[in-house]
Amino acid sequence: MTFQIYPTLEIPETLAAGPGPGNTDARVLQAFASAGVADHMQGDVLRGMIECKHMLRQIWGTENTYTFAVAGTGWSGLDTMFSAVMPGDKVVAFTNGTFSGIDALTLRIKAATPAEHAANPLDPQAASVTVIEVPHGQPVTGEMVDEVLAQHKPKWAFMAHWETGSGRVNDIQGFSDACERHGAMGLIDAVSSLGVSDFRIDDFPGVAGWASCPQKGLCCLPLTYAPVSFTDAYIEVLKTSGAYSYVHNPIFEARHWGIVDGQDVEKGTYHRTHSGYAVAAFHESLRLTLIEGLAKRAQSYKTHEAVLRDAVTAMGCQVTSDMPSLVVLNLPPELAGREMELVQKCRAQGFGIWPTLSAPIQVRIGILNQLNHQAISHIVRLFGQAVQDMGGSVDLEAIEALLEGRYGTSIAA
Ligand SMILES: *Cc1c(COP(=O)(O)O)cnc(C)c1O
Repeated sequence: MTFQIYPTLEIPETLAAGPGPGNTDARVLQAFASAGVADHMQGDVLRGMIECKHMLRQIWGTENTYTFAVAGTGWSGLDTMFSAVMPGDKVVAFTNGTFSGIDALTLRIKAATPAEHAANPLDPQAASVTVIEVPHGQPVTGEMVDEVLAQHKPKWAFMAHWETGSGRVNDIQGFSDACERHGAMGLIDAVSSLGVSDFRIDDFPGVAGWASCPQKGLCCLPLTYAPVSFTDAYIEVLKTSGAYSYVHNPIFEARHWGIVDGQDVEKGTYHRTHSGYAVAAFHESLRLTLIEGLAKRAQSYKTHEAVLRDAVTAMGCQVTSDMPSLVVLNLPPELAGREMELVQKCRAQGFGIWPTLSAPIQVRIGILNQLNHQAISHIVRLFGQAVQDMGGSVDLEAIEALLEGRYGTSIAA
């Protein structure tokens, strides 16, 4: 082995125009970088965590005491939410894309018996888990959930709120109603919807557990904090059956956020070493969300998504998604099959769009924290140019006219 010291790693600025991570707000980066060196039991770090917990409850519209955040990314929050699922538990999971597919794998891992693990360690086929695979591009509907839960009567039911792989919004009201009707505890992957959609947890009493991430709708940094929220009923189940985890057991974790025995206490107690930098960044992202207001932000996503959707449609693309933060599309017929090539070319130039991560290959363009006419126009122009560069026939003047019409002549330039 040769001894080698590499130069300091430099990472360029790129345009994050995918499903996430989003463009971290400069004020969040500032909060991260200007936090002092302080340990995880320092008074202001602990106070910051308590304030985050309260802000999170406001943003998420919930009285759930067990509302806090898990160090890491979306999968850290999801692993925590799934921790109460024990071997042999009866589960129904609805999947309609890459992410809910991985959630279903996690559920099979949690619910598998030791024999099922031994038979297929990386992909255990847990007999107690029923996975309903809804085709890519189609939503999970309330009728579907109602029918399957009526038939299986599971302990747990799972769905992604917004499936980022295919860009579909699933029926959260129908899911919650069906869970209530059939006595299932609902679990929701809300990684893509928190901070983008104006919804309240407490409007969906059939859902017992929610998990999200820092770096999508909240525009914070990955590896800060993944929000989670649990009803008292979920915590009761967890108390009764336990979890095969210390670090991702919601009852243990909540202690550092000042939640002990179902009550808010003044100060957190040690669970793990938290990062003052991460706490400061997360705190700022929650503050910014509350200052802007979720209703206004949600409306803004819808407005700008509509412009992006119409612009790429005018270029001959076919949009198959209905998520306000993300457009999933097929290229015009003359470029069909070249989606991956186009994405790679764009990414090589710092225009960070994404392909789908499971079949069929489509292009995903996201607008997280890009909620102004300049940013959207920039994304539209970059994409139009990329399609033209690959030989597509894009009328760039017509696209300019579309942007002007939607955003007004004085501001489109
Ligand atoms: C992004 C995403 C995840 C994974 O989150 P990470 O932050 O990458 O761990 C899970 N579920 C959904 C719906 C997502 O969009």
